[in-house]
Amino acid sequence: MRVVLLGPPGAGKGTQAQVIAGRLGVPAISTGDIFRANVSGQTELGQQAKAYMDAGDLVPDEITVAMVSDRLAEPDAKAGFLLDGFPRTIAQADQLRDSLAEMGHALDCCLELVVDEDELVRRLSGRRMLVDGVWVQREDDKPETVRHRLEVYREQTAPLSGFYERAGLLTRIDAIGEIDEVTRRALEALGADHALAQDAAGDRAED
Ligand code: ADP
Repeated sequence: MRVVLLGPPGAGKGTQAQVIAGRLGVPAISTGDIFRANVSGQTELGQQAKAYMDAGDLVPDEITVAMVSDRLAEPDAKAGFLLDGFPRTIAQADQLRDSLAEMGHALDCCLELVVDEDELVRRLSGRRMLVDGVWVQREDDKPETVRHRLEVYREQTAPLSGFYERAGLLTRIDAIGEIDEVTRRALEALGADHALAQDAAGDRAED
């Protein structure tokens, strides 16, 4: 299955992407994670991306699209993938559609996680990550940068919802609630009934 996960910063895309991809048996590909790994590894790509990321701006499309095309050409992504954080502009979505078409593939679904903005600001401002055993705030989770990222989302990424709706690929779910509950809604929306069945079997085995 080839799925794009869409939603504003703080919607829980990263968390849900890991779980949903695991259940679907496809790799979760997060452009934010790939960029952050390149920044910590001080690669050339990381150096190109860092200033944009710290400011809460999008990394230019050419850089991002090339990176994703390389990743999608890897063997584990041949049979399916779940993209988290890509596409983020209409230009990226056009490129994704074209490069999949070249490989004889197409997206199956765009799953949008819907969360209202007050909740997003609350979640992002309180978010911390563990680095070398210490809890730190991501540079781009500082309150003023959070507001800017939400603006960037509204202007550049939110139009993708209409783009995928017109293509007949959009499914929206309410992403407020317990993590497990949101996962359940997501799998149901994807029609991944076998994954739900495995889920129930797994729960029984754990009892
Ligand atoms: P968020 O928590 O906002 O969803 P991500 O971890 O997905 O953040 O991305 C962090 C940053 O990495 C973005 O603010 C942006 O600078 C950069 N980035 C990630 N994906 C893309 C993309 N598809 N296009 C451009 N920039 C991106």
